[in-house]
Amino acid sequence: MTGAARQSWLIRGARPLAGPATDLLVTDGVIAETGSGLSAPGAQLLDATGLTALPGLVDLHTHLREPGREDAETVATGTAAAALGGYTAVHAMANTDPVTDTAGVAEQVWRLGREAGHCDVQPVGAVTAGLQGSRLAELGAMADSAARVRVFSDDGRCVSDAVLMRRALEYVKAFNGVIAQHAQEPRLTEGAQVNEGEVSGVIGLAGWPAVAEEAIIARDCLLAAHVGSALHVCHVSTAGSVEIIRWAKSKGWRVTAEVTPHHLLLTDALAASYDPVYKVNPPLRTQADVDALRAALADGTIDCVATDHAPHPAEDKDAEWQAAAFGMTGLETALRVVHAAMVETGHLDWAGVADRMSARPAAIGRLERHGRAIAQGSPANIVLYDPAARSVVDPALHASLSRNTPFAGMELPGQVVATFLRGEPTVLDGKLAR
Ligand SMILES: [Zn+2]
Repeated sequence: MTGAARQSWLIRGARPLAGPATDLLVTDGVIAETGSGLSAPGAQLLDATGLTALPGLVDLHTHLREPGREDAETVATGTAAAALGGYTAVHAMANTDPVTDTAGVAEQVWRLGREAGHCDVQPVGAVTAGLQGSRLAELGAMADSAARVRVFSDDGRCVSDAVLMRRALEYVKAFNGVIAQHAQEPRLTEGAQVNEGEVSGVIGLAGWPAVAEEAIIARDCLLAAHVGSALHVCHVSTAGSVEIIRWAKSKGWRVTAEVTPHHLLLTDALAASYDPVYKVNPPLRTQADVDALRAALADGTIDCVATDHAPHPAEDKDAEWQAAAFGMTGLETALRVVHAAMVETGHLDWAGVADRMSARPAAIGRLERHGRAIAQGSPANIVLYDPAARSVVDPALHASLSRNTPFAGMELPGQVVATFLRGEPTVLDGKLAR
């Protein structure tokens, strides 16, 4: 579309953050005007009566699988799924094949995202070469590349070596980077399959203790404080982790954290079915953990929601529990799950959802053009959402190449009706616009 004159859009009667209805005139990629009764000859009209307008969602934690596992997902299919879920930017995790541990791979993923055009793709760089945990990857070269990498993570694996973690935290200070840790003490989780607790005892699968997560988070908060750097904690799943992060924040340390939609809604009781669709890393925990995570997201101890969208082809999931892959898809259901877990339960209003799913993840990911208010002059990254809709989740309708959603068959509120990326619709009438 570059070079061509861009279509203006007049969005009529949308309710920013579920507040009073207004028209939004979108021209040249920005929100040019807001107010009621706007007119714009030549603009495309979109009737948004009854729809809630939110800033385009930002995901800090997406597995797009390309390069290397294009049978599970590609940048094109994963970003199509993201747009359908209301996202205008996703951070693509580094555990691809080859691993995103050089400027070259980071730029490749970034370019694939631009070519697909469904949403912005911001590559996450690996912390260690090949995710091997033995020496640092080319952090500076990735930061200086066209992809301007600022978030680094070995996600899927924990940077368990304290010296390497310290060096990584020190290194990224030079360019205001952040280390996103997958907190899993490897020795404490050898062979672990499900949350260690009552359910693991009953069903006889190896337990995954909460302390394996909490010990790493505590260590890393102390390391981040010691070197004065920025730590982001991926997919917090336990009540104890929340307490540690709350303590670290009370000290003024530069610690942020995310929670997944599935950890806000589901518990380890589902593992009793032995259905591997519920197998995920970190594992589903107890209702007490879910309650603590919801409260922490509501009070800001946990900064944001991140999907950990982890697509797998059927042959990797349709196996005995122990042989099946860890992970769940999430991009196309995230906003609806947060609606059910946080808004319907009274924990967050829509301003809160916009903060936790757009503004804060954009700030943590250093994306200046995302996460901005629905206001005159902001980049026109917008999602229009029907909060009154309800429907049963049908993975056959998803754009993701993979079908491993734990929400299949579940009735959820809401429907993404339209998504705009820099003023261009990526989704209209709940379907891909391009
Ligand atoms: Zn992870």
